[in-house]
Amino acid sequence: MKFYILTLFPEMILDGLNTSIIGRAIDNGLIELEAVNIRDYTLDKHKKVDDYPYGGGAGMVMQAQPVYDAYMSIVEKTGRQIPCIYLTPQGKTFNQNIAKEYAKSDEVVLLCGHYEGIDERVLEEIVTDYISIGDFVVTGGELPAMIMVDAISRLVPGVLHNDDSTVSESFSDNLLEYPQYTRPEVWNDKRVPEILLSGNHAKVDEWRYEQSVLRTRLNRPDLLDE
Ligand code: SAM
Repeated sequence: MKFYILTLFPEMILDGLNTSIIGRAIDNGLIELEAVNIRDYTLDKHKKVDDYPYGGGAGMVMQAQPVYDAYMSIVEKTGRQIPCIYLTPQGKTFNQNIAKEYAKSDEVVLLCGHYEGIDERVLEEIVTDYISIGDFVVTGGELPAMIMVDAISRLVPGVLHNDDSTVSESFSDNLLEYPQYTRPEVWNDKRVPEILLSGNHAKVDEWRYEQSVLRTRLNRPDLLDE
């Protein structure tokens, strides 16, 4: 799967994602990342990409032209109008089901805003989906884009060593995952639950399911309502 990321800070994206599991998936060719620097497309001789908002108010707004030309550079290169997701607090809230849907795509463009956001006219021209990572505002779309790339990539077949590990984890079947334990059997006077040492897989599965339900009821009852 290929991610094109339209950003003013390409190094932030590449530095942040070229490590650990996603870094390995990039090395193995399962995931491709191309960060496109919006600033490279400005026609302004001082390389400016933002200006004051019409109507007044605080902050600066990213201009339409460099964003449009940066997106069109991808269209021209690929010959395809690739779906473009704008990361914005005003979008639909990202979750595991949305990640699963995007993981079926071959390619996607992620557009990162900065300052007060992006001129609405270019969003109307190129954006197909508006996605938020939660009800709060961060300074730029780069961290939200990195979260999306990570969450989507780990659902691409082959990225995790054991694809089954996504089957029972949090949010599958609208449940949170059960508690996990590893060696030693006793730590700080706390014993691992006896059932996990029993070797009885049916009983272990039953216990884990009960724990998942209890945990979800306690921490995220809204998931059970769904
Ligand atoms: N003025 C905008 C508003 O009130 O809706 C917020 C702009 S924010 C400071 C700058 C950029 O950060 C946005 O254009 C967007 O790309 C990104 N951003 C901020 N919060 C986000 C969130 N919760 N989810 C996704 N992107 C976000």
